[in-house]
Amino acid sequence: MEAAKGVGVTREMIEKALALRASLDEVRGDVFDWCSGMGYELRHARIKFGAKSVLLKTLFGTIIGVKRGLPYKEEIASIAHEICHDEFHSSCIAYRELKRVMIEREEGQAEMFASLVVFPSLTEYETADEFIRTCGVSHTLAEMRLKFFEKYGW
Ligand SMILES: [Zn+2]
Repeated sequence: MEAAKGVGVTREMIEKALALRASLDEVRGDVFDWCSGMGYELRHARIKFGAKSVLLKTLFGTIIGVKRGLPYKEEIASIAHEICHDEFHSSCIAYRELKRVMIEREEGQAEMFASLVVFPSLTEYETADEFIRTCGVSHTLAEMRLKFFEKYGW
């Protein structure tokens, strides 16, 4: 995955990802409680453009739309991905109009952030191959978690 090259996340992002994971565990994995606890409205939706999720800012609050029927871990990752954009990339409201290279960087960051929420630790996996085979998420997300591991050592 090209966009993964050179992607890194900030210390703040890492802390936020781990906090998100802790709050997910607190609500015993219930995605609706998880989102509403953070002030987001979660909706299952039909999403075009081949995307799995979308972030929608309204006057009343922020909606995270997630494609219906995603496997659970992919749903968690998609929600986390959008929260990363919301928390760290959306200070510029027109961030979707950034240059392509910037969008790729932010997409990579959001995906790395999401992989950390889904897999806060890799200690239960013996090897990278085993992880990729058994982790139950898309190859892209798994690769991003391995990139994080290579870069930060855990
Ligand atoms: Zn994104």
